[in-house]
Amino acid sequence: MKFELDVVLIEERCRSSALAARLASAVAPEVEVRYVPDGRESARPLAGERDPFAAAKRRLVVMERRAPFLMGCPAGSAEFACCGYLVLVTASNCPMDCSYCFLQEYVADNPGLQVYANYAAAFDELERLGRSAPGRSFRVGTGELADSLAFDTLTAISRDLVEYFAQRENLLLELKTKTDEVGNLLTMDPCGRTLVSWTLSPTRVYESSEHRTAPPAARIEAARGVLEAGYKVGFHLDPLIAYPEAEHDYGELIENLFDVIPPQRISFVSMGGLRMTPALRAVARRRFPGDPMLLAGEEVLGRDGRMRSFTPLRMRLFASIRARIERRAPKMPLYLCMESASAYERVFGATPATPAALGARLVGR
Ligand code: SF4
Repeated sequence: MKFELDVVLIEERCRSSALAARLASAVAPEVEVRYVPDGRESARPLAGERDPFAAAKRRLVVMERRAPFLMGCPAGSAEFACCGYLVLVTASNCPMDCSYCFLQEYVADNPGLQVYANYAAAFDELERLGRSAPGRSFRVGTGELADSLAFDTLTAISRDLVEYFAQRENLLLELKTKTDEVGNLLTMDPCGRTLVSWTLSPTRVYESSEHRTAPPAARIEAARGVLEAGYKVGFHLDPLIAYPEAEHDYGELIENLFDVIPPQRISFVSMGGLRMTPALRAVARRRFPGDPMLLAGEEVLGRDGRMRSFTPLRMRLFASIRARIERRAPKMPLYLCMESASAYERVFGATPATPAALGARLVGR
């Protein structure tokens, strides 16, 4: 396990859980393991810390989830051309530290690394989901409020999830990551029901902004490994940052990707521009004052309250990446994340599909 922890805090009511037992035996001997009455308290920011968000990334809390495990994607909105993605919350926050990460704002009040010991209760919710719309397929992912695989060496949650989804005809699991922690996945047969996706950025963005993540080449190599083990793979070029060398760098990244992974074996590529609320931008610039990516280009405030780079610049970058991808992969399923229908029309020259239709297309390949 590559991420350093100071302490593992296990909520008393989870003391006898399988997850607590796995974690307690897997953490390094120098990591303190303690039992606490209420994990919610342990996940809150601690007073007196200079950067409470960074400090919380070294504190793993094993606790019970009191809310539903399944939720709509927080990025979903009637304003955007959405993909129908559903989020399965098995954990919250992430040991990596990307300067642009929305979690700096989204989980600012409870930034401790939470892993939910009662995650098996999610299977009942998934059963109900699967039965709710016979004939429809759902893509369900764990990588929205946490990285899907960052702690998998310790928690091995992926094993239970992959096994569960392997037996479900109309549910597809998406594990989204910026790591190369795929060891558990390589020991299992997903029966075509798990897709592993990587968020990819050019080396320049990785080096300036994606702290403690695996280098882009290592992510691509890990993708090659899981593909050979029977998993589907997808890639998110998100956030795309419109810095001066972006078209060149993203083009090179795409060539590197397709040199390793045959494009016809990739389920989809998504694109999304960097977007930040003014509050998130202020936090990010305070925590990462030397990051040039947080200062790149002129930004405009959108109707959803988020700043994005100036629309013509952003559209030009989307179109250039689309052209670069389609030069080698004309049939690649591509979609935009958190962009309006009009942006979609400008980039693709067509009206976006409904979330259900787009979701079905992404599940099907
Ligand atoms: S890997 Fe993802 S979840 Fe983790 S810090 Fe980076 S953007 Fe946030």
